[in-house]
Amino acid sequence: MNLLEYEAKQLLKNSDVPTPSSQLILDANTHITLPVVLKSQVPTGGRGKHGGVIVATTKDVASDAIKTLFTLPIKGFVPKKILAEELLLIRCEFYLSISIDRDTSTIRLLAHKSGGMEIESEDHESFFSRIISTDFKQVGDELADYLAIPNLAFTLGDIVKKLYHCLIENDATLIEINPLILTTDTRLVAGDAKIVVDDAAQFRHADWKSYEYRPDDSNFVLLDDHGTVATIANGAGLAMATVDAVEESGLHSANFLDIGGGANKESVLDAFRTITKQSSVKAIVINIFAGITRCDEVAKAIIAAKQQIDFLPPLFIRLTGTNADAANTLLNEHHISQFPSLKACISAVKESVEK
Ligand code: GDP
Ligand code: MN
Repeated sequence: MNLLEYEAKQLLKNSDVPTPSSQLILDANTHITLPVVLKSQVPTGGRGKHGGVIVATTKDVASDAIKTLFTLPIKGFVPKKILAEELLLIRCEFYLSISIDRDTSTIRLLAHKSGGMEIESEDHESFFSRIISTDFKQVGDELADYLAIPNLAFTLGDIVKKLYHCLIENDATLIEINPLILTTDTRLVAGDAKIVVDDAAQFRHADWKSYEYRPDDSNFVLLDDHGTVATIANGAGLAMATVDAVEESGLHSANFLDIGGGANKESVLDAFRTITKQSSVKAIVINIFAGITRCDEVAKAIIAAKQQIDFLPPLFIRLTGTNADAANTLLNEHHISQFPSLKACISAVKESVEK
C-alpha cells in the first residue's frame, strides 16, 4: 500500500526525521500561516509538474490556490486533503531512499546529488548506492562526501539511521525522500515523502485502517484495460479456468476475480462496481461452483447490481452448488436467466459481444 505524503511524513516525524512544519487542510475555509507551500494529497508522484504544488505568499493567492487544488485532477485523482507546509528556502535538492533489496535480502540506500522533479531522467549509474549495515557513521561520511556537504556527515548518518528504523518499525518496503532539501540556513529537511508499506503486515498495524488508499480486499486483478469480457468466479482455479475459457473462445478477458469462499452480497456487489468502472467491458460472466460460497448470496448481489448500477453490461450466469435452488428462485422472480454450463455461457457471450 502506498501512503499519501502527509501520512508518510507523519511516520517520518514519529521517527524524528526532520520534516517541514505543516497543517492539513480539509476545506477551503481553513486559516493558514503564510508564506506556505500548498500540496495536493493525491496517491501519485509528479504533482509538481501537474500544478499540484503551489507556493503562496499572500492570503488571496493561498485561498485561490486551495480552491484550484481541490478541483484539479492529477492523473485522475482529486485530493480530499491539501497539505500546507512552511515555505523552505532551498539551497539544493537531493534524492534519498531506502528500500528492501529483494535480490540480496538487504536494505539499500540510494542517493542522488540532483533530486527533485527531474530525477527520472538520471541514469542508474550516477546514483550513490549502498547496502546499509548498522554502521551509520560510515554511511553518513560516504554520503556527505558524495553529496559534497562534508559538514553534514553526522546529520546525514543520523537521518539514514532514523529512516532505517522507520522502515523496519513500519514494515515499509520503501521510503523515498525526493527532494531532501538543504535549506539556505543549512538544515536538511524531507521536502516530499513516499512510503510503501508491505500489505502482508497489515495484521499487526491497526493504525493502517485510517489510511486513505487502502488496497482493495478483493482478489480483483486487471488483465487488460481493453478487455471486453469480465469474469467473476469462486476459487482461484475456477477463476483461472473461466478466464482461459473466454480467451480460448477468441474473446478478450478484462480481469481475473476470485470472490473467495466468504463472499456475501456486499462483497460481490463491490466486484460489480469495480468491473463496471472499466468502459471496455461488454459482458460479465459469472461462474460459480459453490461450496462454502452460497449461490443465494451471489444471486442477491446480481439482483442488487441490476437495480443499482447504471449501464451494467449484460450478465451471463452459471450458478451451481450450495443453495442453488434458493438462487434459482430469486433469479426467476426477477426474470434473470441462467445458463446450464460455462460452455453455454461463453457461446452466448460470443454472440452478444460480436454482434
Ligand atoms: P512531486 O512533484 O509530486 O514529487 O512533489 P514534491 O513534493 O517533490 O514537490 C515538487 C517540487 O516542489 C520540489 O522538487 C520542490 O522544488 C518544490 N517544493 C516542494 N516543497 C517546497 C518548499 O517547501 N519550498 C519550496 N521553495 N519549494 C518546494
Ligand atoms: Mn517529490
